[in-house]
Amino acid sequence: MAALGKLAAGVAHEINNPLNIISLDVEFLKSQVEPTNPMMENLHSISEEVERIAHIVQQLRDHAKMDEAGHEIININEIISSHIFSIAFSQLMKRGIKIELDLDKSNPLIMIPRTKITQVLMNLIKNAEDAMTERGALHVCTRQILQPKNIKDTETVSASSKTINNLVEIVISDNGQGIKPEDMNYLFEPFFTTKGFDGTGLGLFISYSIIKSYNGTIKVESEVGRGTTFSIVLPAANYQRKAPKDK
Ligand code: ADP
Ligand code: MG
Repeated sequence: MAALGKLAAGVAHEINNPLNIISLDVEFLKSQVEPTNPMMENLHSISEEVERIAHIVQQLRDHAKMDEAGHEIININEIISSHIFSIAFSQLMKRGIKIELDLDKSNPLIMIPRTKITQVLMNLIKNAEDAMTERGALHVCTRQILQPKNIKDTETVSASSKTINNLVEIVISDNGQGIKPEDMNYLFEPFFTTKGFDGTGLGLFISYSIIKSYNGTIKVESEVGRGTTFSIVLPAANYQRKAPKDK
């Protein structure tokens, strides 16, 4: 997966320059042709397709930047409550879609750059939006998964068990059209899309690579006509407990 990502990013980089030149040339030709000239339609069509390629290239290049992003400890609830998500949710609400947020009161912390987790969640929300009609409902939930090896604050913790690997789950469910069973195996493959020219098929591939590279997992359950649930699980960052100091 990592090698494939590198190759894709390399190809994207190489495509970018010629694409810019085509784009400039088309704009120049447009400025030279009378608006009523039948050729104008072809030029518009070229522009549209160039834009489509540029969008794919941009997604692959963003993906390549992933390696440059360092580690950040973030409060996942804060991310989901941030301005950029408020805008996305209010756009969904304008379409008549209900938004239900169910955020864990303990404000779970995870170790992943905010730009990366935002990118992943936006991909999932956009897909949910695409799958829903006006009567849709989007459910976003965060919760801690406490591992059995839980230690009380008052207990003395031996050095070997200082770290408890708790997890944080982020769930995004929609009641949209669902995914056909025969498509389920291909969702995370690059360029798999059922949206024809409206899709790039890169959203889930990139999301998967990001979550994977921060030691997380991403799973999907879906039923045609009922909806889809994506679940992301990442290691919690707030359970690095130190043993109490000796008095
Ligand atoms: P794109 O959105 O560009 O098609 P993605 O990688 O984001 O590419 O998604 C791949 C495919 O997975 C989509 O084309 C769609 O068929 C399916 N899919 C993803 N999320 C959902 C969802 N929430 N509901 C229904 N289908 C989905
Ligand atoms: Mg998508």
